Amino acid sequence: MDSKLRLLPIGGIGNVTKNMYVYEYEDQILIVDCGIGFPEASMLGVDVLIPDVTYLQQNLDKIQAMLLTHGHDDHIAGLPYVLPQLNADFPIYGSTLTVGMAKDRVKEFSLEPDFRVIPDTTFDIGPFKITPIKMTHSVPDTRHYVIKTPAATVYHGSDFKFDLNPVDGVIPDFQAIAKAGMDGVDLLMSDCLNAENQGFSASESTLTDLFEREIRGVAGKFIVTIMSSNLHRIQQIINVSAAHNRNVAFVGRSVEQNVKTATELRLLKLPKTVINKRDINKHPAKNLTVIIAGSQGQEGSSLTRAAAGEHDLIKINHEDKVVFASEPIPGNENNVYATIDALSRTGAEVTYSDIDDSVHVSGHSSATEQKLLIALTTPKAVVPIGGTYHHMIQYRQLARSMGYKDNRILLLNNGEMMEIDHQITKVAEKMELKNIMVDGLGIGDVGPAILYDRKKMATDGVLIVIVPVEETTSQVRGEIEVISRGFVFMKESSALVEQIKDKTIDCLIPFQGKVADWQELRHKIEKSLEKFTYSATERQPLILPVIIEV
Ligand SMILES: [Zn+2]
Repeated sequence: MDSKLRLLPIGGIGNVTKNMYVYEYEDQILIVDCGIGFPEASMLGVDVLIPDVTYLQQNLDKIQAMLLTHGHDDHIAGLPYVLPQLNADFPIYGSTLTVGMAKDRVKEFSLEPDFRVIPDTTFDIGPFKITPIKMTHSVPDTRHYVIKTPAATVYHGSDFKFDLNPVDGVIPDFQAIAKAGMDGVDLLMSDCLNAENQGFSASESTLTDLFEREIRGVAGKFIVTIMSSNLHRIQQIINVSAAHNRNVAFVGRSVEQNVKTATELRLLKLPKTVINKRDINKHPAKNLTVIIAGSQGQEGSSLTRAAAGEHDLIKINHEDKVVFASEPIPGNENNVYATIDALSRTGAEVTYSDIDDSVHVSGHSSATEQKLLIALTTPKAVVPIGGTYHHMIQYRQLARSMGYKDNRILLLNNGEMMEIDHQITKVAEKMELKNIMVDGLGIGDVGPAILYDRKKMATDGVLIVIVPVEETTSQVRGEIEVISRGFVFMKESSALVEQIKDKTIDCLIPFQGKVADWQELRHKIEKSLEKFTYSATERQPLILPVIIEV
């Protein structure tokens, strides 16, 4: 057999988010996941990052289907941006909840792709034999997939933990994992995010005790903020609240949407104690629990508005208690602590992970669970995914401790295409992948040049110089106007403004008496003023010369 299975990670390696993997066998392609990434602080104004799908665009006719592992944004939220780039007419498979959440994601973009709920048993997509495996994670209805081709079998083990006391009672399907191992797995792709943590991650259900402890003795509203996809945490808060005679209201678009979808799919049980958020003020505060979006301190979220006293429905006061049943995602710490400060100023008691680390349990496996997955699947080779480089190094340590030689542990970069057959897994090809940035409605139209301008504006402001020029003679006619935003305080800088005008006039001298190339003139003014403003102020504002024909 000559054909090999080729596997290309487009995203999900080394930077945790933006998960997307391409499986290619002969002339057929199967895609797994389609997530977004979160921009770095230096990417000003960029909303999200999406995977670079150039390779898929070059192979559109090969794409058979897409498989989704679970409903987190870094696995499904790229769909509305990526599907139009792939003229998507292929089916997209996932579990009931994952498909429900993915539908919500694409709905507001008026897309209606061919979503299909996966069966419980093995099914075929072209040459790929897919076995879905029930798995536990911080969003319900998560799956791993065994992907079998004539050339090789891969166990696709993205985000998971082995939770033996899950809130919905659906434990990971250990039998199916072990069976895959007995049938033979050539490559295990495994979540490695918590490889540094020893032992087992705590069960999600341990949070019931935490909420029991926190809710006691609260005189006013019991307010909990969570990641909105963590439906099992929501279920526990509802149950504990009911036992303490509290009605529950949901506040915030993402929480309300996920609760609605999960309830329709019967994956969340809402008792009669759940009330409409508009009725909050009809109930005494001591009989009220509020589950609110904004656990990452996102600007404009319901929680930050409530903390600032700007929310129409939720007023927070000294009798209330606010619990952050979540942890800041790296990069969001400043926003989270600003929100905690604002909440503390209202006099409310605030509990968060720094003062009580039991308010959150990770949805990801620790080292022992990752070893257990290796032990059950007994793969010939392993590839850590879903972590940054130091997590991959820790994962290599644990694989070594189980007897794996380094040539069986591949630490990959996104864009490195593997070739797998029953003998060996190796990197065959490397592709350059770009960061595709989404800003508002624009996809990929924000590049390094735009980011450079934004950075300049953010740090040193903007200087606009409006120059009225006579077209035929290139003489200044009338007054040059200098406008500063965020650069200098104009009223106190009249001397500087005059010098800027003089420098601008100097730039026109070579063109006088003839028709100037305005592009060239603008460029000349820009360069001259850049030099001048830096020498005069040591600032580098974005300079915008505007030439007006008179
Ligand atoms: Zn996840």
